Amino acid sequence: MFHLLEPSAHPLPEWLAQHGLPRFRHDQIRHWLFAGRARSFEEMSDLPKWLREALAAEFCLWTSRVVEHKQSEDGTEKLLVELSDGQQIECVLLRDGPRRTICISTQVGCAMGCVFCASGLAGVARNLTAGEIVEQMLLLDRLLPEGERLSHIVVMGMGEPLANIGPLLRALAEASSPSGLGISARRITISTVGLPAAIHRLAEENCRYNLAVSLHAPDDALRNELVKVNKKIGLAEILKAADHYFEASGRRLTFEYVLLAGLNDEADHARRLAQLLRGRSALVNVIPYNPVADLPYRTPSSAAVNRFLEILRGAGLNVHVRERKGDKIDAACGQLRRANMLAAEKLTSTVHSPLPSA
Ligand code: SAH
Repeated sequence: MFHLLEPSAHPLPEWLAQHGLPRFRHDQIRHWLFAGRARSFEEMSDLPKWLREALAAEFCLWTSRVVEHKQSEDGTEKLLVELSDGQQIECVLLRDGPRRTICISTQVGCAMGCVFCASGLAGVARNLTAGEIVEQMLLLDRLLPEGERLSHIVVMGMGEPLANIGPLLRALAEASSPSGLGISARRITISTVGLPAAIHRLAEENCRYNLAVSLHAPDDALRNELVKVNKKIGLAEILKAADHYFEASGRRLTFEYVLLAGLNDEADHARRLAQLLRGRSALVNVIPYNPVADLPYRTPSSAAVNRFLEILRGAGLNVHVRERKGDKIDAACGQLRRANMLAAEKLTSTVHSPLPSA
């Protein structure tokens, strides 16, 4: 069955034409999916009953299901989603004042090899389809009460978005389309480890999304240690591509920097980072590390964080510190899925251990 939320090569218009139905039926169905928050064909109440049944026989609306739904006191909600092949991904809804931001995943796992990140510890299993990416948006949208709308999207969940750029762009086109979620491109941010060819493509395709590049180190020697894929790329090519995107899109660049105690958080790192980014109209997003179970990395003290920030600010950079939201619900990338995988491993080992005799 064709996934109705899959934007690529969509057969719905043709199917409707074959059934002799007018074009406005297509608009009605899209309206139900995006603005109308329908959960089933059944609910599309202004379609004739026979059409709802025929659609349900021909198309599936949801391919994944929510296996865990966590809510934290600060309003953050996180979904652990199981895909049709049993793989799991995560996505998050964040509430910040009037903002309703969602954080979505683009791959099952990740191949970039950031040593401190939970998502990539088991490598990458596969890319998500555009439909699976759209589905996360709609599952999260349906957590909002009537009258509230999603305002922002950050592609900062599991995976490297630019390693799955085709489906990513098709999904974001649905997000920003007025007949889709209607979220303007300026409110959508793609976070990348820095894949130069894909960044050049974003520039050439005239994308208007915000680009956030994860640096985490002021030089290649340290970045090679922290972000394994850097050995094949290097900071110079990444910055060149980012500058190209800035010129083409006019969007101010963001550089992300996860602070890891004792590794990349010293005054000298801050000074060299400021030097590296000199002359760019950029925002530096400093992210104190969110610890991952069994990994040796630690969050720096607030004194170390402040020292780092002061040096960057003193050098004239715009700096923002990421507030920790939802850490009690494992809201950082890949943590909930990993907790679930570890729990499942434990479960299997108990099942395999000899059962105590009654
Ligand atoms: N692959 C993309 C998206 C990753 S998630 C990228 O590399 O940008 C978004 C950001 O969170 C990245 O900067 C990533 O390095 C960072 N991150 C991953 N795990 C983290 C953790 N445990 N604590 C803090 N930030 C983390």
